[in-house]
Amino acid sequence: MAITHNLGFPRIGSQRELKFAQEKYWRGEINQSELITQGKQLRSKHWQQQSSLDFLPAGDFSFYDQVLDMSFLLGNIPSRASNSHTNDSTELDTYFRVARGRSAHDSGCSCISAGEMTKWFDTNYHYIVPEFTNDTAFSLNPEKLLSQIAEAQSHNAKVKPVIIGPVTYLWLGKEKDASNKLALLDRLLPVYQALLAQLANAGVEWVQIDEPILVTELDQEWKNALQRSYLSLQKSPVKLLLATYFGQLQDNLPLISQLPVAGIHLDAINAKDETTALIDSLPASSIVSLGVINGRNIWKTDLNATLDWLEPIASQLQDRLWIAPSCSLLHVPVDLGSEEHLDPDIKSWLAFAHQKLEELSTLQTALNQGRQHVTAALEANQQAINSRRQSPRVNNPSVQQAVANIDAKLGQRQSDYPHRAAIQRNKFNLPLYPTTTIGSFPQTAGIRAARLQFKKAEISEVDYTSLMHQEIKYAVDEQEALGLDVLVHGEAERNDMVEYFGEQLQGYAFSQYGWVQSYGSRCVKPPILFGDISRPKAMTVNWTQYAQSLTTKPMKGMLTGPVTILNWSFVRDDQPRSDSCYQLALAIREEVQDLEKAGVTIIQIDEAALREGLPLRQSQWQDYLTWAIESFRISANGVGDATQIHTHMCYSEFNDIISAIADMDADVITIETSRSDMELLDVFDHFNYPNDIGPGVYDIHTPNIPTQAQMVELIEKAAERIPAERLWINPDCGLKTRQWKEVIPALQNMVAAAKTLRQRA
Ligand code: GLN
Ligand code: ZN
Repeated sequence: MAITHNLGFPRIGSQRELKFAQEKYWRGEINQSELITQGKQLRSKHWQQQSSLDFLPAGDFSFYDQVLDMSFLLGNIPSRASNSHTNDSTELDTYFRVARGRSAHDSGCSCISAGEMTKWFDTNYHYIVPEFTNDTAFSLNPEKLLSQIAEAQSHNAKVKPVIIGPVTYLWLGKEKDASNKLALLDRLLPVYQALLAQLANAGVEWVQIDEPILVTELDQEWKNALQRSYLSLQKSPVKLLLATYFGQLQDNLPLISQLPVAGIHLDAINAKDETTALIDSLPASSIVSLGVINGRNIWKTDLNATLDWLEPIASQLQDRLWIAPSCSLLHVPVDLGSEEHLDPDIKSWLAFAHQKLEELSTLQTALNQGRQHVTAALEANQQAINSRRQSPRVNNPSVQQAVANIDAKLGQRQSDYPHRAAIQRNKFNLPLYPTTTIGSFPQTAGIRAARLQFKKAEISEVDYTSLMHQEIKYAVDEQEALGLDVLVHGEAERNDMVEYFGEQLQGYAFSQYGWVQSYGSRCVKPPILFGDISRPKAMTVNWTQYAQSLTTKPMKGMLTGPVTILNWSFVRDDQPRSDSCYQLALAIREEVQDLEKAGVTIIQIDEAALREGLPLRQSQWQDYLTWAIESFRISANGVGDATQIHTHMCYSEFNDIISAIADMDADVITIETSRSDMELLDVFDHFNYPNDIGPGVYDIHTPNIPTQAQMVELIEKAAERIPAERLWINPDCGLKTRQWKEVIPALQNMVAAAKTLRQRA
């Protein structure tokens, strides 16, 4: 009999209830007990929605982040946030301090910096990085987890708590001194032992212990740590289900099969091919949990195909088989049922968290009682799968043909950079240290209101256009007054740098409530890339042309690049990511060429998310970079030598991808550097990066206004690494989250800094 379980459920709520409650609490609009009640209600609702499972997950709920919860569970709280320093009255407040920091503006307290945040493996979820020092001590703090387990048990179900394993926990964290975090394992393991003992006391039989680092490349010392940890936890009074997800085990497979745990969860979406080898290598008593439903995408599972594969495994494993989603459902939206406006065809192809658990239950019934007990469900599923496969909205033969026709010439500029640069220098005649911005200007309440009214059809297109023109004119006039050299139209018409393009491309759909937690209370709603991509008409030309008509300075056309559009979307599972990326590249290429035809001479193609798409294993990086960079080149390089291509990449380290960045061959790249004190430029320097660079000199993430002197100093540091002739002066990123009253003085100082340096040159 196959058993069902779930690795975690999204906690934000189908209408983002958690987000709104958190933010109200932070603004002081509700008190702590109201927040706690809201959390309790959400948990209860989510357990009800999971009631078909044999084991309910507990401990997957969090008021901010599950890794931070783990830090609190293990008593690893940064000393700067501990109660004595902050006057916080409750642990929850301390918890939020660590998550969010506290600025000097908050009443009567000194500043506390927020914990660092970083990407959870290759997802778009961000966790608070555990902090370690030589003195880090751990102590068990289990009350919250235990009370959530008790809540879950009150649903009359078996409860399987979910915790992060000790080795992954250490791996996720960062040493704040010169210590070696692995040395903390000996201090950590007794706390885990104590925790497992307490869980057993609470009536828990199985604990899911997550070690997703097993899908990454591990040094021997980390492999040893895994071995040591599970040997030491072997005698604990609960059964451990060791969970891995997001990829294949590869050379970690022999290691995992030797760990003395009661069961292993394998991501049978990404590591399907390893299933047999894993089963064969495990002891005959071991539970095998197969993640057969994709926890990372929003597509229906092909249930019949899954059963064809699973049935022989089920008869081999009998009671040893568990089935589940591939990973926590944290990474998918909650409930497709909330969607009112999705096209019915497309909707019939989708499954969000709630629907994925229904699929799981159908699979269970089919395995345990026979497919004939779920005939209707299987038929309906088959129909949806077939309809998607055959739909003309998914398949566009001319797009497929265009991708098949891609050849090396398409990504090639007419001439190499030095030749182009000479032509462009003559044409633009820009001063030394040319100044520009990254694209967006403040998204004021007025702009947002106008966009919303237009979306609701409360104002006509003509009225909307004229409102946007006013905004563009305002931004252009301000830039003229500031004396910037290369202007932008300000992106007033864009809600989001991906959604704006997705909405105009064929092959994209948009949900109403398809939110996924990104970090804390922040959620994103990735557009759904469902079909072959084509561009019915120009997407940005009118706005840019209008903006150019207002000034004699060059106006940058502003686009989002194919790789970023791809990486911030839910993508197709019926073709490789690279194919979708090439399709996007061809669409953006058409836009670039239309801009050029319309007289736009400088075009920026943003690739903020290029680095984010790097696979978990370094051995797979080259493959990704090859098609990602080629996609960028296809989109950018269909222009004449005199057209200047810019790209922009924020939150990036470039050390290990610098040669790919150089292969992009953009005439100008603007990057985020101000907080790194220009050290990020070292790698460009050492690589002899040949093209122009605009290292950000103004950190746009804070309201602080950088002084002229600070920026002069940063530019001088940049000029130690990159010849001044190839340096541009610009902020770190777009200014949409700032206010005009911050932006104006900051840019005044920035322009003044450039002028000062020009005089010295
Ligand atoms: N052009 C975009 C802007 O200025 C770039 C945003 C980004 O890189 N995240 O907002
Ligand atoms: Zn940016």
